[in-house]
Amino acid sequence: MTEQGITTRIVHSDRHGGVEHGGLHKPIHSSVQYGFERVEDLIGVFQGTVKGGFNYARQGTPTTAALERKITALEQGVGTVCFASGMAALSAVFLTLLRAGDHLISSRFVFGNTNSLFGTLGELGIAVSKVDAGSVAAVEAALRPSTRMVFVETVANPGTQVPDLAAIGDLCRRRGLLYVVDNTVTSPLLFRPRTVGAGLVVNSLSKTLAGHGAALGGAVTDVGGFDWQGWPNLFAAYRRGDPAQWGLTQLRKKGLRDMGGSLSSEQAHQIGLGAETAALRVAHTSATALAVARFLAGHPAVAAVHYPMLESHPQHALAKAHFSAGSWLLSFELRDAATTLATIDRLRIPIKATGLGDTRTLVIPVAPTIFWEAGAEGRAEMGIADGLVRLSIGLEEGADLLADLEQALPRR
Ligand SMILES: *Cc1c(COP(=O)(O)O)cnc(C)c1O
Repeated sequence: MTEQGITTRIVHSDRHGGVEHGGLHKPIHSSVQYGFERVEDLIGVFQGTVKGGFNYARQGTPTTAALERKITALEQGVGTVCFASGMAALSAVFLTLLRAGDHLISSRFVFGNTNSLFGTLGELGIAVSKVDAGSVAAVEAALRPSTRMVFVETVANPGTQVPDLAAIGDLCRRRGLLYVVDNTVTSPLLFRPRTVGAGLVVNSLSKTLAGHGAALGGAVTDVGGFDWQGWPNLFAAYRRGDPAQWGLTQLRKKGLRDMGGSLSSEQAHQIGLGAETAALRVAHTSATALAVARFLAGHPAVAAVHYPMLESHPQHALAKAHFSAGSWLLSFELRDAATTLATIDRLRIPIKATGLGDTRTLVIPVAPTIFWEAGAEGRAEMGIADGLVRLSIGLEEGADLLADLEQALPRR
C-alpha cells in the first residue's frame, strides 16, 4: 500500500491510539498527578524504564502526547516535545542546548520576539551573529570555532525573506552544526525541513495548526538530521539509550520540566482539532494570499509587495523549489507612506490586530507595533520599512478581500 496522505493519517490518529469507549478523539486528560498500582511502575516512569508513562502534567499528559504524535507525523520526525507557546519552544531550544561561550548564527530576518530573545542570549554569554541567510556564503563567513547552531525561519515574518535552506543544511552537516528551522509560516503542510537536512524543527502551533486564533502552543520536533553523539552540551544523564532521543530528552527535562512552559491538555486538544483541517485551510489561504499579492502588485498606489510565490520575489526560485504553496503571510508598502494608516482604517474585513494564521484576515502596520521595541536602527537591520503593512490572510472568500482592498487603497 502506498503511504497515506497526511490528512487521512491525522484525522484517524487518535482512534488508533487505544482511546476508551471507542471515542474518536483522545479525551482531555486534566489530571496533574498520575498514580500507579505498583510503586515499581512509579519508579520506572521517573527513571525512564517504563516507556510512555506519565507522572506530573508539567512533563506531559496523554493528551499532549497525542498531539506530539500528530506533529511528529506531520514533520516525519523521530519525536516531538510540545510547549505552551512557540516562544516557549524557541526558548527551550536556545537555553537548554547552548552554553555560555557558544556561538549561534541566525538569519537577520526573524520574528521580533525571537530577535528580542537573542538579546537575552547575549547577556548570558551566548554570542549571536545575524546574517542575510539568503546566501549560504554569508552563513559560512560568520562561522567561528565556537559556532554550534544555525537558526533560520523558512519564510521570515513579516518581510517574507527565504533563506538558502538546502545549502545551509549542507554546510551544517559538513561542519557538525545543529540546524534549527522555524517552520511556523510554512507549517509542515507546505514544507518539511527534514528535506533540507534540519536537525530540529520549531513550530508555533498557535498559527496554522491551531488555526482559529483560539489556542497557543509550540513544538520542537527532532527530524533526525543531527547526530547527538557529537554534541558536547548534553548532560550525562541524557546520554543513555537511543542517541536519536538524546536531544529531545534534554529538551523535555531541562526545557519543559525545569523551565515549566508546559502545554495544557485543553489547549493540546484544541490544537489537535485544528490540525485535522490544517491542510484544507492552508490551501485556501495560500490561494487567496497569492491572488491578493498579485492584485496589490498591479495596483498603482502600491510600491512593493513581499510574497514568496510572486515571480518578483528575490528568492522566488528557492520558494518554488521547496514550498508547495506560499502560506497566508504577505506584506506590502504604499507609494505614499503617509497614507498607510488611513488606508488600513478604511479596510472593513481585515481586523486590525496582531497574530497570524487565523480564520479571519488580520492586518497590522509593522514598524509602530510588533517591531516598535527594536527601534529605528534595529528595524533597518531587519529590513523593516516604516510603512510596511503585514496581512495574514484568513478563510474569507478571496473576491470579498479584493473588493475591500480596492475600496480602501488610495486612488493613485
Ligand atoms: C508567532 C511566531 C512565533 C511565536 O509563536 P507563539 O506561539 O506566538 O509564541 C515564533 N516564530 C514565528 C515565525 C512566528 O510567526
